[in-house]
Amino acid sequence: MAKTGENKLKILMCTSEAVPFAKTGGLADAVSSLSLALASLGHEVRIVMPRYYAVDRDRLKKLEGAMGVPMAGGEEWCAIYTAELPGGQTGAKPVQTYFIDHEGFFGRDGVYGNAAEPDFLDNPRRFAFFCKACFQLCRKIGWYPDILHAHDWPAALVPVFLRHGEKYRAHSTSSSFSEQNESFEKTVSVLTIHNLGYQGIYSKDSFFCTGLGWDVFYQAGFDDWNMMNYLKAGIISADRINTVSPNYAKETLSQEGGFRLDGPLRDRGEAYSGILNGIDTEVWNPATDTYIPAPYSAENMKGKARAKKALQKYFGLPESTKVPVVGMISRLAEQKGIGDLFGPSFGSAFSFCVNMDLQFVLLGSGEAWAEHEITNLAGRLANFKAEIGYSEELSHLIEAGSDFFLMPSRYEPCGLNQMYSLAYGTIPIVRNTGGLSDTVQNYNQKTGEGTGFMFDYLSPNSIYDTIGWAVWAWYNKKKDIDAMRLRGMTQDFSWNKSALQYAELYRKAY
Ligand code: ADP
Repeated sequence: MAKTGENKLKILMCTSEAVPFAKTGGLADAVSSLSLALASLGHEVRIVMPRYYAVDRDRLKKLEGAMGVPMAGGEEWCAIYTAELPGGQTGAKPVQTYFIDHEGFFGRDGVYGNAAEPDFLDNPRRFAFFCKACFQLCRKIGWYPDILHAHDWPAALVPVFLRHGEKYRAHSTSSSFSEQNESFEKTVSVLTIHNLGYQGIYSKDSFFCTGLGWDVFYQAGFDDWNMMNYLKAGIISADRINTVSPNYAKETLSQEGGFRLDGPLRDRGEAYSGILNGIDTEVWNPATDTYIPAPYSAENMKGKARAKKALQKYFGLPESTKVPVVGMISRLAEQKGIGDLFGPSFGSAFSFCVNMDLQFVLLGSGEAWAEHEITNLAGRLANFKAEIGYSEELSHLIEAGSDFFLMPSRYEPCGLNQMYSLAYGTIPIVRNTGGLSDTVQNYNQKTGEGTGFMFDYLSPNSIYDTIGWAVWAWYNKKKDIDAMRLRGMTQDFSWNKSALQYAELYRKAY
């Protein structure tokens, strides 16, 4: 038994991204914050991820000796580097992070792809190798976790390998069918789905690179309409599965929200649940934020007015306190509702900017058509400004300086920006979906209650109408708006509660 002590667990986070090392989305934030929060609860947490070019080797320590990873047709060799994920001011213990360094698989810019090759052709092989390497790492450092916690499709083969080979070395590398691998014998797996829209679906011609037999292809549920699906196999193999909000867990059990995996998820019954992500309250706290001109809090909001002015100045907008600023920070992807906002000829952004007395600022990057439309629109409208790109600093200024924050997501497993907005006294305007439903309460015009403005069906008209409603409230229900801001700011979105729920999930699995 590998337990560290009474009720304390050894947990290995297997992930393709983690801040501050590599990030393409909310997954990176979630993994690091959760790890630190669990460490604060006394669990022994470690992280393993690939070493991409973006992770500077000079800042890492190299473990002695190379590591061999059994792969189809032989062995691949890699180096292991390590660094500590700092605990920060909260006093959390640092989390030991390991980097799998393989030039052929990860020695490149881009996590999953780049501009020329959005989904690297060798991704099935890259991430099969990574998942296999997670086990070899434990052997190399002589540290066997109670919980292998895999995140999203790139790590989804970890539960599969555990069940079909690593736990009882049978199917893959060992010649003796009954030989037991003591080391992982008690280990259980948890798979967290951060976004069901990404599943790792590839031609089954690539299945050989998992090193598993064709019996496992069917047993573990890799088959997906004559293709191979990594996430589906992970869902079927993991001891417990969860996603990042209770409401998204419910939605994914339906045909509409299940991305064709609602069946396998329903089959897992009680083993599938939803746990709301938290936010990093050290990074996203208006009282300590160093990116904004002056700190502020629910007790003293002067700093928010300064942030609004600075934001208007940054974008060259009239520096008026009267006009509401609507902010948006987003990956420019269909998931985020950009088609209904900026779609040529029917998007609502043009109409609400022309017809309403507001200012609209956007920071984002992603699909080329959207970047093009947004740049075009910003050139034609005086009250719409956009920056195409990625900027941590500007994202903080937008959160602090805006009055409203727009998030018209088609679907949203959890979403972070609406929670940042609430913490910064910026009222979210969101679609009633996924984690947005779990974190925002719709405005009730009669009672003045609520923390945001919500709509059910995604269409250019409903975005237009809901922004119109918020702008109307801004000009006519000032007291309600102020009360909503403060209500949002006093909510607790820290990771503490979520970490306790994960600890509970581990116990159920273990
Ligand atoms: P997703 O992971 O689906 O993109 P989330 O809301 O869960 O959406 O998390 C996105 C994270 O990435 C947030 O922290 C958000 O502020 C950040 N982000 C997205 N686009 C940008 C950008 N262009 N510049 C800075 N931060 C961004």
